[in-house]
Amino acid sequence: MSTPDSSSALDHLKRRIAESGPVTVAEFMRLALSEPGIGYYATRDPLGAAGDFITAPEISQMFGELIGLWCVDLWERLGSPDPFLLAELGPGRGTLMADAPRAARVQPAFLRALRLNLVEISRPLRAQQAQRLSAFAPTWHDDVATLPAGPMILIGNEFLDALPIHQFQMTENGWRERAVGLAGDGLEWTMLPPGPELSLLRPEHRNAKPGDIAEICPAALSLAEALAGRFARDPGAALFLDYGPARSALGDSLQALRGHRAADPLLDAGQADLTAHVDFAALADAARKNGAGAFGPVGQGPFLQALGIERRAAMLAAKAGPEDRAAIAAALHRLIAPAQMGSLFKALAIAAPQLTELAGFS
Ligand code: SAH
Repeated sequence: MSTPDSSSALDHLKRRIAESGPVTVAEFMRLALSEPGIGYYATRDPLGAAGDFITAPEISQMFGELIGLWCVDLWERLGSPDPFLLAELGPGRGTLMADAPRAARVQPAFLRALRLNLVEISRPLRAQQAQRLSAFAPTWHDDVATLPAGPMILIGNEFLDALPIHQFQMTENGWRERAVGLAGDGLEWTMLPPGPELSLLRPEHRNAKPGDIAEICPAALSLAEALAGRFARDPGAALFLDYGPARSALGDSLQALRGHRAADPLLDAGQADLTAHVDFAALADAARKNGAGAFGPVGQGPFLQALGIERRAAMLAAKAGPEDRAAIAAALHRLIAPAQMGSLFKALAIAAPQLTELAGFS
């Protein structure tokens, strides 16, 4: 594995801006995160204590196990198809998909029927996934577009927040698009006339006052539309867990994280994780408009509680020593407490129209 060149994403951005002018926030995010060979995700493993951020599957095995139970429940609702696609978007270190089958052991036919398909752009993370998940002989994809047809259960944890957003800012002269330009040796925020994505603004954005920012994520909307189209033909459902408000809202949610601390998105381009809040309501609307059902969003806390996380924690604690018992209690608190990940993090499912109920969304 080649070590990422610390300055290459930033240099590439500067050259690009010098040649053709300021880039939109969306183009900035795309270049900084996923440009092949230089983007943040394209070149490294950003996860864990030594990395830049930590995610629910890395906090506790309970998370992946409960998602595994959710998948088994959905598979049975779909009539136990054999074979079926079990797909994950942005599997990270493969931890969720390593933990999920433990819970799925209750249903051996599920384990025999699944065909694991992983959508991942990061070469280093693909290598880790290959190691962790070799028992399932996964197939990798760069994009959902190449997932084979057939019944599908798809999971995406902290995937949508990494997709590029456009930011529009209301000014005294109407909407402008936020962009990144050159300032001497570095980068600076600037404005451009709004691009065509302005037409995707939500009703909640209409009462914006000067200074307010509205965010639109066309990549997530296209994904919701594509999944809805697919579920109209082939049965299945997609479960997304991520963070963002329950209803579309104004506000600047672009954030950079490096070494578990807030970083400057412009200074650390290519070296820091960049994320934005997910507009769950916009995705649910896009799915419904294209013929699918949408469930949620519900808070991650209530979702995991409905799936039985407290029972699972008690079972694990009963077998553990005092130190592990404290760690299990701490992980449970982190995953479900409203002030931790229980409320800002949410679950949303996009489902084939014949599915009238899904576990965790009552
Ligand atoms: N789901 C994992 C990792 C979350 S981090 C977890 O919860 O721990 C985001 C993941 O999405 C990483 O695996 C990253 O490499 C991948 N990723 C980011 N942008 C992507 C894109 N455009 N297409 C495919 N994978 C992407």
